[in-house]
Amino acid sequence: MKYVVVSGGVLSGLGKGVTASSIGVLLKSAGLRVTSLKIDPYLNSDAGTMSPFEHGEVFVLDDGGEVDLDLGNYERFLDINLGRNNNLTTGKIYSKVLEAERRGDYLGKTVQVIPHITDAVQDWLEEVAHLPADGSDQSPDACIIELGGTVGDIESAPYIEALRQFQFRVGRENVTFVHVSLVPVMGPVGEQKTKPTQHTVKELRGLGITPDILVCRSTAPLTVETRQKLAAFCHVSPEAVMSTHDVPNIYHVPLMLHEQGLCNILDVDCESTDLLEQWRVMAFHLDTLDKEVHIAMVGKYTDLSDAYLSVIKSLQHAAMAVDHKLVIDWIEASHLENDWGDSDEYDAAWTMLKESAGVLVPGGFGDRGVEGKILAAQYARSSRTPYLGICLGLQVATIEFCRNVLGLEGANSTEFDENCKHPAVVFMPEISKTHLGGTMRLGSRPTIWQVDECTIRTLYGGGEEVHERHRHRYEVNPDLIESIESAGLVFVGKDETGQRCEIFELNDHPYYIGVQYHPEFKSRPGRPSPPFLGLLKAATGQL
Ligand code: GLN
Repeated sequence: MKYVVVSGGVLSGLGKGVTASSIGVLLKSAGLRVTSLKIDPYLNSDAGTMSPFEHGEVFVLDDGGEVDLDLGNYERFLDINLGRNNNLTTGKIYSKVLEAERRGDYLGKTVQVIPHITDAVQDWLEEVAHLPADGSDQSPDACIIELGGTVGDIESAPYIEALRQFQFRVGRENVTFVHVSLVPVMGPVGEQKTKPTQHTVKELRGLGITPDILVCRSTAPLTVETRQKLAAFCHVSPEAVMSTHDVPNIYHVPLMLHEQGLCNILDVDCESTDLLEQWRVMAFHLDTLDKEVHIAMVGKYTDLSDAYLSVIKSLQHAAMAVDHKLVIDWIEASHLENDWGDSDEYDAAWTMLKESAGVLVPGGFGDRGVEGKILAAQYARSSRTPYLGICLGLQVATIEFCRNVLGLEGANSTEFDENCKHPAVVFMPEISKTHLGGTMRLGSRPTIWQVDECTIRTLYGGGEEVHERHRHRYEVNPDLIESIESAGLVFVGKDETGQRCEIFELNDHPYYIGVQYHPEFKSRPGRPSPPFLGLLKAATGQL
């Protein structure tokens, strides 16, 4: 097993996850089986309880793990399926050690950060690195370990210590340390400044880890002088100083690292498979797209694109497949509401919605903006604009249909109005009817087709069932299904009990689809998720 440990310095947001995933792509293109593990030094057990405002989207795995969005990068870049243990947090490791202490496993010893936490971290890394991730039953050959946060943070100190020891546990020759840093540009001639990187490497070395490779985020490629200076001050060879400078799209990142000789340093032949060539084709194809397609995203975190990262990626995968350049028109759902005070924002939101070629309402929790989303669904239905509703997007479209087609005035979800007159969407927990905690329906569940032929089934390529990932509590009210369906909104996919509505499709509409699951978590570049592909095909007249 070869380990590539990726740490970061100077500041966050340098694209450490993309760099780490790109290194994984290079290893994979050399024919290795690659997996990855992300360490998040926060105390939360997982990302499930974190607001998208703080940490971006909560990514959901097949096994129901609610994890950091970087795991999504790994799954998409490496085309693998990870499990909840591929995201290690301080909450998880402390729980494990504290449970062992309560059982008496430490035989009367004082339990300490070193060695007990650091040993537990190393055991975890070694165990999870060997878990198959590519759909086969074979153990990976290489594991990318990304350490979240910035070197020097108090929270990450035990992990740095664990990783320092880890190189002796698994053999120094089996670990490559990569440090991602920033090279800012200053002054009238745009001088590349190396001091921040010098400092962060000094800090890392002070903690006992000497990086083998430096990856510097910069606007332009590093000059020869900058590389030499960094090599001299940071104790790395000049060939091992790489830059990740600005490129038109992220698919260029593995190519850019390859061109700078990263594969030589890792001692692998990245051209031994045709994977890198596929990335090349994809990266340059994306650069040439000039016909635009406008998709309106009606959500509530519209100024925080990380909150919808996987949805954006899925739209991009689908747009690439229909040869269009994606333009997302972000619409704050509450701006569409009638009682909104600012008429300029109201007018602008409606103009944008009406000019888009397709409408997407993504998942969400809480009632802010729900009425705006309902209006967006109504507009798309009545104007025959292609619509995709995901999770809450399915629920609001169902509410809208009940109100305006079935005439059930005041129809709502009991999530937003517990005592509403017509509960169109209701709480249907899988386990407990009385507890909210731990009652979310999470992870991969089967959807069984209820009709022989429909647009969305064709998009999924037929088959008997679909496996997608879920994260919700509420469902379409089973009591209303018959009347909804007889008015033309058909639940073409249900769960294996026939109780839960998973997919709807509206008759006599170019493309009006709702899914209770989150298809965005399984979309891949080159293999777009079917509901997204359908939306983009319909929006560009190719369905
Ligand atoms: N709030 C809704 C529910 O819990 C939708 C969740 C979602 O969109 N992920 O069912």
